[in-house]
Amino acid sequence: MQRVTGKGCHGQFPFPQMTDMAPSTDADRSVNADRKPIRNNHGTMKKKPLIATAAGVALLATALVSRAENPYYDPTRPHHRPDGFTNTDGKRIDKSPAQLWRWIRENLGSGLPKPPQTHVQGYNGFEVLKPDTAWLTDNREQVSFTWLGHASILLQSGGLNILLDPILSQRASPVQWAGPKRKVPPPLTMEQLPPIDAVLISHNHYDHMDADTLLGIAQRFPSAQFIVPLGNERWFQRQGITQVKGLDWWESVTIGTTSFHCLPARHWSVRNFADRNENLWSGWAVVNDAHRFFFAGDTGYSDDFKAIGERLGPFDLTALPVGAYAPRWFMQDQHIGPEEAVRIHRELKARQSIGVHWGTFELSLESLDEPIGAVRHAAEKAGLADNEFRMIRHGETIRY
Ligand SMILES: [Zn+2]
Repeated sequence: MQRVTGKGCHGQFPFPQMTDMAPSTDADRSVNADRKPIRNNHGTMKKKPLIATAAGVALLATALVSRAENPYYDPTRPHHRPDGFTNTDGKRIDKSPAQLWRWIRENLGSGLPKPPQTHVQGYNGFEVLKPDTAWLTDNREQVSFTWLGHASILLQSGGLNILLDPILSQRASPVQWAGPKRKVPPPLTMEQLPPIDAVLISHNHYDHMDADTLLGIAQRFPSAQFIVPLGNERWFQRQGITQVKGLDWWESVTIGTTSFHCLPARHWSVRNFADRNENLWSGWAVVNDAHRFFFAGDTGYSDDFKAIGERLGPFDLTALPVGAYAPRWFMQDQHIGPEEAVRIHRELKARQSIGVHWGTFELSLESLDEPIGAVRHAAEKAGLADNEFRMIRHGETIRY
């Protein structure tokens, strides 16, 4: 493979809210969903209020830790700060203690999320297709998109096999004994992946940047190039993954005939108590003469998408997050819902979009299957054509 050419350019801690501000663990979810307490790894009974309180204390503690200096700080770039990064509008996604306690209280009392019961029956109701791994391994010509669950995507474009935010682990967490547990199995194993050329990461939350999966990929595919938003390359280097490139917003690298553009999103980052917003978050465009693809990562609604649509659109295909949106008062500034996803689809000038970031990990209060109906409703309401905004099955491959 050709070397990357381009321009431009911590550790971990066991707390579940680092998977996108859901201050609850798998234990909480089991209590919520099944009304059965579960045992933690010490064999003692965990109680939800204790967990929620601990998560709340942890969140508050992050605000008290002194800030590191941002070694990338460039005062001419509006999203740079001396201590890290911010969104395009200059605002950070910080919750006040009152908001955090309201969230914890609502979470405790709601009994939500409920197991899927509208579009699929129970967690086992999700159909998980086995990707045609022989075809994927042979294919270097055709553009294809395979959904691996949550925000994990295998994209084949420009003769390259590209993974976006891959997670094959059982939990989206720094540890595999606590934290949000996968409700639907991954459609394939590490061994079944075709040879990977590039891995794109949108941000360092545990449901998007999974250590076990990334280390496995680096080991199995030593020539894979990791491309990450600015600052995150330090984590990879600490893991011994040296083939990594950190990019700032609007910077790009090229592999072969395909360019990878790091693009703004409205979100935030945290990996441990002390690194809040020290590493950048982003979306990605993957562009070559045959195909233009966009992946939003995690994002709230912002004017960024109009700008991206104008500068890099139209897109043949976009993957937009459509899950982990409830309750809106808490999630809105960091996670779009289906209606905003449809609006962004239009602003990006996308020919087709596929909804991702749903149906796999319970990170918020809507049921895992709710986005299926909500996306259909939002697309109809906006007058989109059939299949213009699609929801596909776990493991399903769309060939273009
Ligand atoms: Zn996130």
